[in-house]
Amino acid sequence: MTIPLHDLKGLLPDQLRQLATDLGEPSYRGDQLFEWLHVHQARDLDGMTNLPARFRQVLAEAGAQMPGLELLESSASDTGKAVKFLFDLGQGGNGQGLGQVEAVLIIDGDRRTACLSSQVGCALDCKFCATAQMGFVRNLHAGQIVEQLHRLHQEAQRRGERLTNIVMMGMGEPLLNYEQVTCALRLARASDGQLQIGGRKMTVSTAGHVPGILRLSEDDLNVGLAISLNATEDETRSQIMPINRKWPIADLMAAAKTYFDRKGRRVTFEYVLMDQVTDLDADADRLAVLTSSIPCKINLIPYNELAPGLQISDRVYRRPSSARLDRFTRRLKNATRHTVTRRDSRGRDIDAACGQLHRRVTDAQSAVSATPQRA
Ligand code: SAH
Repeated sequence: MTIPLHDLKGLLPDQLRQLATDLGEPSYRGDQLFEWLHVHQARDLDGMTNLPARFRQVLAEAGAQMPGLELLESSASDTGKAVKFLFDLGQGGNGQGLGQVEAVLIIDGDRRTACLSSQVGCALDCKFCATAQMGFVRNLHAGQIVEQLHRLHQEAQRRGERLTNIVMMGMGEPLLNYEQVTCALRLARASDGQLQIGGRKMTVSTAGHVPGILRLSEDDLNVGLAISLNATEDETRSQIMPINRKWPIADLMAAAKTYFDRKGRRVTFEYVLMDQVTDLDADADRLAVLTSSIPCKINLIPYNELAPGLQISDRVYRRPSSARLDRFTRRLKNATRHTVTRRDSRGRDIDAACGQLHRRVTDAQSAVSATPQRA
């Protein structure tokens, strides 16, 4: 058997066909499985009623699994622009908890965007980010990423709507879990699935993993690329994003240019505005210069302050005043011909910045538990 069976929901259509033939069934059984998994979004084999009981039994005996996600908490923001979900991954073979991840449904005009996690925790240690405090716990399987998507799809459906976009901007660094993330996105775009979200409506966001950007630029997926730039000089960027020591700003900008050249798609630069750290006049000027030769959009994100106790560095990062946010935005707009947008505070009241809901729940659990659980 060449097909891994621990993550049925993460298998591509041709792998499911292969699986069926490996198990002595006609290959169309693989198509039926795909339909159950990705059109009906079944959560277990028992529910796949039009598959012969024999085939379901053979699958189960071969060890086929589809680990689900347990919903721990969901909360709608007061602004009505975001619904956030916290999922538990259940237990591993040794009975240990596998951890928790978040996903957010973002409501914006006609767009319904699924913001998904790629890892439990994150290895990159960005000093301003709540997820970093967990450290790296594990990579998600493609099926666990797809399952987040299915749950958000069901929420959208419940609201009489459908998902239009996917962004890999939840917990984790997607390009450090490249295979599983791209597999999940391929499944989401599969023409015979329920979602059928095209590559043009998908965005992978990276803290600046240059080899991953180059690999994605050669992938047939053709997704949008967002780069969390967040600073305009190497010294500051290395302080707040240690990955910059390995791939400094010049390398990152070169990779962004390559991505555009190969894909013909404008890159998005995400830029988090932190008071007195990244929001200086000189930053606005440098940001315009850095991006001048790269077809791109610039998305300004006012920093979402972490709850006390979540800071991971000695320095406490602050959201700039609205006067400073306006000043930066105006100055940048005057200095660049690129489109500049500013993300509003949708979901700020539900801790929509990555990692924060998870932390609040685990903190609350530890507060009532004699043996605090860490994810
Ligand atoms: N690792 C990937 C994707 C996850 S982070 C990346 O770095 O792009 C998603 C975005 O949220 C990044 O742009 C990050 O800079 C930003 N972010 C993290 N913590 C934040 C906070 N507290 N307030 C505002 N934005 C934050």
